Parts: sequence; structure tokens; C-alpha cells
Amino acid sequence: MRSIKNLNIDGKRVFIRCDFNVPKDEFGNITDDRRIRESLQTIRYCIDRDCKIILASHYERPEAGKYEEKFSLAPIAKRIHTLLKIKRDVLMAKDVVGDDAKSKASNMEAGDILLLENLRYEVGETTNDSKFAKELASLADIYINDAFGACHRKHASIYAIAEEFDKEDKASGFLMAKEVNFFSKVIEKPIRPFIAVVGGSKVSGKLEALTNLITKVDKVIIGGGMAFTFLKAQGYEIGTSLVEDDLIEEARAIMEKAKSLGVKFYLPVDVVVAPEFSDSVPVKYLPTQEIPSNWMGLDIGPASSRLFREALNDAQTIIWNGPMGVYEMDKYSKGSLQMSHYIAQTHATTIVGGGDTADVAQRAGDVDEMTFVSTGGGASLKLIEGIKLPGLEALSL
Ligand code: AMP
Repeated sequence: MRSIKNLNIDGKRVFIRCDFNVPKDEFGNITDDRRIRESLQTIRYCIDRDCKIILASHYERPEAGKYEEKFSLAPIAKRIHTLLKIKRDVLMAKDVVGDDAKSKASNMEAGDILLLENLRYEVGETTNDSKFAKELASLADIYINDAFGACHRKHASIYAIAEEFDKEDKASGFLMAKEVNFFSKVIEKPIRPFIAVVGGSKVSGKLEALTNLITKVDKVIIGGGMAFTFLKAQGYEIGTSLVEDDLIEEARAIMEKAKSLGVKFYLPVDVVVAPEFSDSVPVKYLPTQEIPSNWMGLDIGPASSRLFREALNDAQTIIWNGPMGVYEMDKYSKGSLQMSHYIAQTHATTIVGGGDTADVAQRAGDVDEMTFVSTGGGASLKLIEGIKLPGLEALSL
């Protein structure tokens, strides 16, 4: 992987694809700015070389083509400015490749930093559109990909844009290099038992990942919203819990594959259920066999926490991706916080992946106890599965 250190960037216009998709609370406050902090090394390197720095990132999932303020990157520009501790402002473009972005980009001076608006405001981003990629590329002389958390997606700012630059004008940033180097070591020689703890709500993407992961690990522990697809596949009543009915067959196949490979597969044995998605309703702690038909599971219960702790006891390597429940609401955060403590207390090499999971570890006060906190959830899972990441592939084209 070519690094930014190998390029001649002095005084040039450098486009840095970052991953500023940070978690925010209901008031729009950034709750964990790790992804921004981790991108500073590359930005500072460019400042020191008198570059004109153009930063770009997506933020969550706005409807493409629609500029909605809640998805704006303006608060990110402020946080970059605060963290960099520089006098000059971080310029914020009103659009992505529109008149404002173009005029601000062309009027930059050495050391200036310009942040483009949310890449996903543009339809062409997620469709890997080459016309949109060309417009983005026209803003700069050099392309740097430092968005580890997004490099598993074949999107225009990750893939098509890289095709617009010669080999000697594109490379990875420092964060990308750090992440990839770390995961390469884990993949080459994981010390066993190797345990994957998977939770969260994105069932579809993670089920695919699990199909490959179970060939690599010794145990899998499932929590969070995705557990209910597995529980339903086992024939349990799951009430109104999050579920992907069209993936039930796949979930069943994963459990069968785990069995045939001798991989231990753990699902929650009890859950915290509520009549609706709210933290101001009375909740019940129930065994998974007893979920009422009109209630939903929003966290794992205390028995599951203890079971999972037992399963983690002999771990030598743990990769954790996805919270055990709706941790953003206090009432449903215990399962995730406990999981964070248990993982942190093991003597294993512990790898926490993904914005939300890192946020849980931070809220639990466990970040310093973890071996590695990755800025990429989906990307780190894909790397461990042994899948080529489009973002890395594009840099070597
Ligand atoms: P992901 O991005 O896939 O890691 O998912 C993280 C999100 O999953 C968090 O915002 C959690 O609130 C959510 N989540 C975890 N458990 C559940 C659940 N049981 N029901 C609904 N959402 C959940």
C-alpha cells in the first residue's frame, strides 16, 4: 500500500477522503470524536507541507439529492478546527461539487483547509458515478484515502475518484495504514481461541460477514437487534423486535455451518423487552422463550451477559462489532456496557470495531483497556473475512 509519505505533495492541492461519520446524541452533539481525532495526523502532515487541503466525508444516510441540515458536516468543521488548535478557520463549503465548493477550492492558500458538504447529498456518491467522481477529482492534484471506516464501500469518493489520479498521485493516509497493518497481523496469525462478538442493527451486511467469519473464529457471540433474526430462525416468538424476515434462511444456514465446523454459537438467553421503542415505558426482563407477541427486545438480559462472560473466559483474541442493545437509551445500555467491561477485563488481544461500538467502549470507560479501537466496523469485519476492500484496491489501480 502506497503511503502519503511516498508522494511529493509539497504545496499541492490534496483531496483527503476522511470518515467523519461520528455518533451524535439527540441534540446533535458529537458523542465520540475518535474518527476526527484519528484523521488529524494526515491533515497536519499536509499543513506542514503547505498543501491546500480539501477534506470530504459522508455523514449518515441522507436521501440522495436532498440537502437536509441535520446531515450537514458544519459541526465537524468546527470540531476539526478545535482539535487542530490552529488560528485560521476551517472553511466549510455549502455544497459538494457546486459553485460554492469550486470557488472556495480555487481560492485557497497554502495551509488552508476546506471541508466539502456531506458527500451523500449527491446522488452519484453511492452509485460510484464516474461523472461525479471526475468533478470531485478536478478539485485537487493528489488523492489520499484515509477513510478506513468507509473503504469497504464502492462509492465514488472511495473508488471511481481514485481512477482519475495517476499512481504517483494517490495513496493512503496514516490512519488507513495503521488500521490495515494492525488487521493484517490479526488475520495472519490470530491467537486462539478467537472469538467474534457481533451485535447492532445492520443485519444484512453483518450476516454476510458472519458467513465468512465463522470459518475463521472459534466462537461467535450474537447480541443486539441482529440476534432476533437468529432467534426467529430457531422458531422463537420475537414479538415486534427488529428482524429481517428474508434473511431467516441465511441465519439458519449460518448456525448449521457453525455446528458442522465445531464453532460455538451463542445467542441471548434472555432479553429486556418494552412495549414500544422508548425509554419512558416500563420494561420486563424475560427469557427469550417468553417474549410477548406485541413487545420488542431492546437489550440482552443479565443471564445472557453472564453466559457471554463465561464464553469469553478463555479468549485470546476478541473482535467486537456492534452494541448488544439500544445503548443510546440508558434503560437499554446495560448489556452493551457490561460486554465492554467483560471484553476489557480479559487477557485477550481485544479489537473494537465501528463508530457505535467504540462509543460504547468510551461510555463504559474501557477504551484504554482495549488493545485496538478501530474506526471501521464494516471495513474491519471485511478485512478479517479476507475480502479485498474497494478503497485499497482503487489505490493500486
Ligand atoms: P450497527 O450500526 O449495525 O452497529 O448498529 C448500531 C445500532 O444498533 C445502535 O444505534 C443501536 O441502538 C442499535 N440496536 C442495538 N440493539 C438493538 C435492538 N435490539 N433493536 C433495535 N436496535 C438495536
